[in-house]
Amino acid sequence: MPETADRQAVLDRAAEGGRITPEEALDLYRSAPLHALGAAADAARRKRYAGTEHIATYIIERNINYTNSCVTACKFCAFYASPKSEDVWTRDLDDILRRCAETVELGGTQVMFQGGHHPDYGVEYYEEHFAAIKERFPELVIHSLGASEVEHMAKISGVTPEEAIRRIHAAGLDSFAGAGAELLPARARKAIAPLKESGERWLEIMETAHNLGVESTSTMLMGTGETNAERIEHLRMIRDVQDRTGGFRAFIPYTYQPENNHLKGQTQATLFEYLRMIAVARLFFDNVAHIQGSWLTTGKEVGQLSLHYGADDLGSVMLEENVVSMAGAKHRSNRMELLGLIRSADRVPAQRSTTYEHLAVHEDPADDPADDRVVSHFSSTAIAGGSAHPELNLIEAK
Ligand code: SF4
Repeated sequence: MPETADRQAVLDRAAEGGRITPEEALDLYRSAPLHALGAAADAARRKRYAGTEHIATYIIERNINYTNSCVTACKFCAFYASPKSEDVWTRDLDDILRRCAETVELGGTQVMFQGGHHPDYGVEYYEEHFAAIKERFPELVIHSLGASEVEHMAKISGVTPEEAIRRIHAAGLDSFAGAGAELLPARARKAIAPLKESGERWLEIMETAHNLGVESTSTMLMGTGETNAERIEHLRMIRDVQDRTGGFRAFIPYTYQPENNHLKGQTQATLFEYLRMIAVARLFFDNVAHIQGSWLTTGKEVGQLSLHYGADDLGSVMLEENVVSMAGAKHRSNRMELLGLIRSADRVPAQRSTTYEHLAVHEDPADDPADDRVVSHFSSTAIAGGSAHPELNLIEAK
């Protein structure tokens, strides 16, 4: 076990932007005092963003859930329905375009296509939908899907993942959201998603995408029974690929939500574990620019705290979200509240693009945007019994 002085030396090195080993990261994650960990991660963030370190970003986006039909049956998932189940639904293209129109109307800049592994949806389905979105709304960035969807659609269409990526990129996909990473180490992944591709395969497909010029974010699902060592191994696997491609723009850990799924909430990551992960991720990823705090799954205060533990981004005002909400995430927010949260964390809020450019820096609260329709879950109509925001019907596709 390292001496306290040795551990502080590792923290100091990482705070300066130096590389730490997976073993050192695991030791910090397990044993470093929480405040020392946060201070080092915050120093690393400030150093990386020297000159704009007073800013924390957010984005306005919408998830578009196109179907819940899924053949993969992940044990942590509360969203999917078996393809033969009477609970299956799909959204038609008109409905999807209407949701895109609302996103544009409300100042959103990004849509995230998110759905099950439908037994019939091959590359052609995504080509048709992405092309239609881009034709009507060229200003919307399609930041969607991940290696799991690519693997699935390529199989359905009988093509390689590389060809699938080329085709959906040509049709309009701008970048991958890094969905389906869950936990990459084999034991932890098999335990919760036995029918998904392996973690190595997930990374191989993301590396292929990066090499084709399609960048992505990366994610991690915490709290389904994985060990601390497996959490750090997940980071190592991503960092190794990033050393070769530089294609991961951000790392976004989020916590397992325990309702309505087969794991039945037996395990969850604590909020302290989450904050420790944010901090260790900032220190470990000397090659990933952005670390995102997730208020949606951990709550607003923890999201706010994450800005002091190395996060530089507070995610999104998600105009529609169903997937983690159906698993129990109850947190809701709106743009005004998010701006307030960021300010009371002593940062200046800035709306960002998908590629993290600052679209609007909200220096003066007196100049804040005042559209009170910009709320999370503006429309979350896939939830049984869920209700659309009353404004929903007022905005028609143009
Ligand atoms: S997480 Fe995705 S792939 Fe897994 S069951 Fe849910 S919808 Fe299907």
